Amino acid sequence: MKENKARLYVITGPSGVGKGTVLNKFFEHNKDNIIYSISATTRAPRPQEKDGVNYFFITKEEFEREIENGDFLEWAKYSDNYYGTKKSFVLKCLNEGKSVVLEIEAQGAKKVMEKYPECVSIFITPPDLDELEKRLRGRKTETEDAIQKRLEAVKRELEESKNYKYLIVNDKVDEAFNQLQQIYEKESAL
Ligand code: 5GP
Repeated sequence: MKENKARLYVITGPSGVGKGTVLNKFFEHNKDNIIYSISATTRAPRPQEKDGVNYFFITKEEFEREIENGDFLEWAKYSDNYYGTKKSFVLKCLNEGKSVVLEIEAQGAKKVMEKYPECVSIFITPPDLDELEKRLRGRKTETEDAIQKRLEAVKRELEESKNYKYLIVNDKVDEAFNQLQQIYEKESAL
C-alpha cells in the first residue's frame, strides 16, 4: 500500500460557522493519523474549555514574550485577543511523518499559505450570514460587543475564502464532514 504523506492542513471558518462540530467528527474518524495543533490564546476560557485541550490559555505578557522568542509559526490578533500556532509542535509532527491541522483565522492562514504553499487550505463557510448570526447568538458565550466584532471579522474573512484550495459550505454537519473526509483522503493519497 502507498505510504500516506504528512500534510499541513489549514482550516479557516468564521466564528459560529459550526466548524468545531465538523472537526470533532473528523478527528473521531481519523484520530490515529492526523493531529490537531493546540493554539495559544490570551482570550478567557469558555465554560467547557480546558487548558492544554482546547487552547493553551496564557497572558498577554507571556504571548508577547513568545512572539519575541520566535515561538510561533504564525500568530494574529482577532477580536482583541492574540492567537498563535506553536512552531516547534507543528514541525515536530511533520518531521515524524504525521499530518497536522491548524484551525486558524484568515490573517494567520494567509501567512502559513505564503510560507508553506504546499499546505492544504480549506475554508468552511456558513450557508448565509443571517444563519451565522443566529448561531453566534444562540451559543450565548459572547457579549454583544464581542458578537459585533466577530461579525465584522466574518465579513472580512469571507472575502479571503477565494484564496483557499477547497471551500466547504456547512449547511448540514454530516455533509460538511463527508466533504472534509473526501478532501483528506484525496490529499493523503497524492
Ligand atoms: P475562538 O475564540 O472562537 O476560539 O477563535 C477565534 C478565531 O481564532 C477562530 O477563527 C479560530 O480559528 C482562530 N484561531 C484559533 N487559534 C488560532 C491560531 O493559533 N492562530 C490564528 N491565526 N487563529 C487562531
